[in-house]
Amino acid sequence: MRLLVVEDEPDLAATLRKSLVEEGFAVDVVSDGQEALWQAESVAYDVVVLDLMLPRLSGVEVLQRLRVAGSRVPVLVLTARDGSADKISALNTGADDYLTKPFTFAELLARIRALIRRAAGVPSPVVRLGPISIETSARRVTRDGIDIELSPKEFALLEFLALHRGKLVTRSMLYEHIYDDEDATMSNVVDVYVASLRRKLGRDVIRTRRGAGYIIDA
Ligand code: CA
Repeated sequence: MRLLVVEDEPDLAATLRKSLVEEGFAVDVVSDGQEALWQAESVAYDVVVLDLMLPRLSGVEVLQRLRVAGSRVPVLVLTARDGSADKISALNTGADDYLTKPFTFAELLARIRALIRRAAGVPSPVVRLGPISIETSARRVTRDGIDIELSPKEFALLEFLALHRGKLVTRSMLYEHIYDDEDATMSNVVDVYVASLRRKLGRDVIRTRRGAGYIIDA
């Protein structure tokens, strides 16, 4: 899952990126509203974490322009403690959730994961594919109750396919959602990860649509 973090406070931005990457997310960080708009218009993010007090364009303006342009990306806004008017105008402008600073990382993480589930129309944090169970919050995968060790990228790829089950997922979609701008990997590694997931989970879980991409059946 790929996130855009829009935060002009460099220490907070760096801490958020590091912690979210450790949780398996691909994370791009920008520090002003104009850049946020450009970035959000060019990449299909799974969630945007948007500070409201930003240089150049405010968070509310960014949100407004994104929604006017038809973007449905889930947006979680970060507000200052005394910013209740900001919070209301952000929610009225199309924010999906908010957090008041200072917040704990655990709460941010839980809210990001809830937004991802909601956007995918998946009510439970545990996704079951026959004998395979994917606990998205704990990032744990089991087959018939036995733990399967996955690398962070293998997990990210499986999670993306599982949350989009029944839908064809192209290689470029996978590439866009599991890597951020700081990764410099070739897109053919997606095939390598799929091969490795098939070895670990069984060959029947992820199907190839030749020349198009991959699908996990609904
Ligand atoms: Ca700020």
